[in-house]
Amino acid sequence: MGDTIFGKIIRREIPADIVYEDDEIIGFRDVNPQAPVHVLFIPRKPIATLNDATADDATLLGKLLLACAGYAKREGFAEQGYRTVINCNEHGGQTVYHIHVHLLAGRSLHWPPG
Ligand code: IMP
Repeated sequence: MGDTIFGKIIRREIPADIVYEDDEIIGFRDVNPQAPVHVLFIPRKPIATLNDATADDATLLGKLLLACAGYAKREGFAEQGYRTVINCNEHGGQTVYHIHVHLLAGRSLHWPPG
């Protein structure tokens, strides 16, 4: 896959407000937040979309979700609630082709999404 703006964030070539980091995952604030809390969790491994993940990525995908939950617990909004979203391809609304989980919180979120 080609490089993306998230690859540049991983390599520290462009700035980001990083709120979580480990060997495999980075979490940083979305530049265009849709809720009071809007953080993106991405693997360092450049998987383009959820369609491109394989069985070898199963543990990594689980870790991405656990990173979201861990952040929510540490920040104190886990009990109140939050939403995790993975957009996939055009109809899913994906614009950056490096898989990412949106973590949205801090307000009551509508359902169904638009
Ligand atoms: P998608 O539409 O699910 O692919 O989400 C991409 C997200 O990345 C959008 O919510 C954008 O606001 C966000 N985004 C794009 N560029 C940057 C950046 O440089 N820093 C942080 N977030 C970004």
